[in-house]
Amino acid sequence: MEDNKEEVISKNFIEQEIDKDLSEGVYNHVQTRFPPEPNGYLHIGHAKSILLNYGLAKKYGGKFNLRFDDTNPTKEKTEFVESIIEDVKWLGAEFDDRLYFASNYFQEMYDCAVLLIKKGKAFVCDLTAEEIREYRGDFKTPGKESPYRNRSVEENLRLFEEMKDGKYKDGEKVLRARIDMSSPNINMRDPVIYRVARMTHHNTGDKWCIYPMYDFAHPIEDAIEHITHSICTLEFEDHRPLYDWVVKECEFENPPRQIEFAKLYLTNVVTGKRYIKKLVEDKIVDGWEDPRLVSIAALRRRGYTPESLRMFVDLVGVSKANSSVDYAMLEYCIREDLKLKRPRMMAVLDPIKLVIDNYPEDTVEYLDVANNMENPELGGRKVPFGKELYIEREDFMEEPVKKYFRLFPGNEVRLMNAYFVTCTGCEKDENGNVTVVHCTYDPETKSGSGFEGRKVKGTIHWVAASTAAEAECRLYENIVDEEKGKLNEDGSLNLNPNSLTVLKRCYVEPSFEGARAYDSFQFVRNGYFCVDCKDSTPGHLVFNRIVSLKSSFKIAK
Ligand code: ATP
Ligand code: MG
Repeated sequence: MEDNKEEVISKNFIEQEIDKDLSEGVYNHVQTRFPPEPNGYLHIGHAKSILLNYGLAKKYGGKFNLRFDDTNPTKEKTEFVESIIEDVKWLGAEFDDRLYFASNYFQEMYDCAVLLIKKGKAFVCDLTAEEIREYRGDFKTPGKESPYRNRSVEENLRLFEEMKDGKYKDGEKVLRARIDMSSPNINMRDPVIYRVARMTHHNTGDKWCIYPMYDFAHPIEDAIEHITHSICTLEFEDHRPLYDWVVKECEFENPPRQIEFAKLYLTNVVTGKRYIKKLVEDKIVDGWEDPRLVSIAALRRRGYTPESLRMFVDLVGVSKANSSVDYAMLEYCIREDLKLKRPRMMAVLDPIKLVIDNYPEDTVEYLDVANNMENPELGGRKVPFGKELYIEREDFMEEPVKKYFRLFPGNEVRLMNAYFVTCTGCEKDENGNVTVVHCTYDPETKSGSGFEGRKVKGTIHWVAASTAAEAECRLYENIVDEEKGKLNEDGSLNLNPNSLTVLKRCYVEPSFEGARAYDSFQFVRNGYFCVDCKDSTPGHLVFNRIVSLKSSFKIAK
């Protein structure tokens, strides 16, 4: 058969739409943006939106902007602005010098509002918020026109200016678009576009006492920045006619085209700023970066890498239908990313002492160990070995259960990278708890010596006691359990009480010396771990378990 390598590139529906726009000459370039509201930290869902928008710009040789949608000062903070910039950069979505703030366009927005008034397309309304809601009607009932709807252009211009000049109390007057109170789309029923609100803005301070509403501001921001494709999530689909109306009536040329996709949801975790914020405020978690959360800062602290999140977002793809992605898929991606990149080290999380009775006293032997058997490029290291070691408590059983191949009296196992040892017994305290395990070793069986005399069924890891460093390890479970229901009846989160386990006395090999925040390792048999950026110090290492080694997730290849 001829090797006809016709490349089949499957494009997602957004790319297909962009292709169409470019071929029909609707646009001659691609400009995208990520428009967060700085009212919290970003989460994994936002990562999807960032990478999608950035990826599209890159793919089509276009540009990507980061723009803060900061038109509502009540919940917005500089802390959030800073964290968002850090997260976007960390994900690798380059925006160069294209960092914008919607609040820098307040004057343009005001001018747009004046233009609408002059065209008879906006009016100042004195109805209260409650009355406006009543007049709006619902899906079944058409709306009722405001008695202020037919004010003259002159009166509207004067009143709007007075709103801006601070003549009215908060909520006393609003500016509304004059569209259609009987539209089947409720968003088109004369929506409020400006309100009076005396709030200090994180960027503009007290310069303004009127603020534009999101639905009016957002399309103008996109239009000012010459965004071609305004990619957003499905909940904005019903707002699209209003956005199109705003940019048309405000006479922007080449207005953006909005394309919606489904939000990313994950099983067993809490997405949604509202819930994360509550966990933070109620001090149930250690701030926005608590490794049990899926804010980007939390994932970074936990040990996730930008590469793993990019892989995840690619695997998930884009769709028009809301659905939840299995959390195990995210874990699959970090394992895949770290598998060949990170060294495999020995660390004992739940230690018990193992004494080799026939090994010489006061001797430290340095064994050659490969850093990663599957990737020779990572080289090797020397690991000290001696008479007294720490092993995992679960690797010894005085009375073994069926199919237990680790240490029990009379059984021989391999100490990983070292020797065969045969268990001879144990010591116990007054309560019957095992305190020390005893064994003897066979010097002939050294790893790498080519010994082939006999085989053993179990291999266990260890850390030499005299040179071990003490460390703290934090193990995590999902903060909510999907099977038990994410929410309680009252709408509160049904939290998993075992989501955090702190192991204070773990032992690790001395090779960890110099490990720094965010460094990650495979701990043999125990999973992937990352040096905690907040609590770890050179003298007291603290590790977060990123993920265990076992996976329930299988990818179809
Ligand atoms: P949340 O619903 O979690 O509070 P938000 O939508 O209010 O988030 P914004 O700052 O307004 O947060 O969102 C910025 C952008 O991120 C928007 O374009 C929004 O559509 C997108 N986005 C938000 N959540 C998700 C998600 N789960 N999956 C994909 N994109 C998302
Ligand atoms: Mg929002």
